[in-house]
Amino acid sequence: MNQFHSDKWKSVIREGSAGLGIHVTSQQAEMMAVHAEELMRWNRKTNLTAITDPMDIAVKHYIDSLIPLHKIAENTSLIDIGTGGGFPGIPLKIVRPSLCVTLVDASRKKVNFLKQVIRLLNLENIEAVHARIEEMGNDPQYRESFDTAISRAFTDLERFAGLASPFLKNRGQLIAMKSRKTEEEVKSISGFPKPPVVETYTLPFQGAVRSLIIL
Ligand code: SAH
Repeated sequence: MNQFHSDKWKSVIREGSAGLGIHVTSQQAEMMAVHAEELMRWNRKTNLTAITDPMDIAVKHYIDSLIPLHKIAENTSLIDIGTGGGFPGIPLKIVRPSLCVTLVDASRKKVNFLKQVIRLLNLENIEAVHARIEEMGNDPQYRESFDTAISRAFTDLERFAGLASPFLKNRGQLIAMKSRKTEEEVKSISGFPKPPVVETYTLPFQGAVRSLIIL
C-alpha cells in the first residue's frame, strides 16, 4: 500500500483541500497516508470501509472529512458519533491538532483499529470509545461536554439530533454530514433555537455533491 505514501496521493489531498480553502501540510498528508494504509491493512480482515481505490479514499474519506473544518474553532472539543474507520474525526484532528476529540463506535473491531491508529500517529487529546451512543448520553463524563457533535453517514437527522444533543455544552453545535438529498430531513427537525443551516458543496476531481447540516 505504498501508493498512499506517494507524492501523487498526498498532492491529491493537498491540492483538493486547497481548492476548498483548507491548508494541509505535507506532514499532515503523510499522517493521513499512515491512517489510510492501516485502514486497508485491517480492511482485509475486518470490514471498515467499502471504498478501497486510493484516489477514492483521498477524496471521499479525507477531503470530505475536512469540509466542516471552517465550522470548528481552535481549542474546542468534538465528539464523532458512529465514526467507523475514524471519519471525519481523525482527519479533523490531524489538521486541527488543538481539537480535543472523542471518537465513538458500537463496533469493537473498529474501536480497536482506531486505538491502533491513535498510537501509530502519536495523537494526544483524542480517545476512541467502544459504546452505543444511546448508552453514553447519561454518563456525566460525556454529558454536556462538547462544543461540537458531528457524524457522517450515521443515521437520519432527527435521530442524530436526539442522540447527539445530550452531549452538547450550552451553545454547542450539531453537524450532520450527508451525501443524499436533505430537504425532507431538514423539514422534520424542530425545537432548535435557530433553523438548520444547510451548506452544499462539490468534492474536487469527482464532482460528487455533499451537504453539511448545522444545528
Ligand atoms: N462515519 C463513518 C462510518 C459510517 S457507518 C464514515 O462516514 O465512514 C456508521 C457507523 O456507525 C458504523 O461504524 C457503526 O458501527 C456505527 N454505529 C451504528 N449505530 C451506532 C450506535 N447506536 N452507537 C454508536 N455507533 C453506532
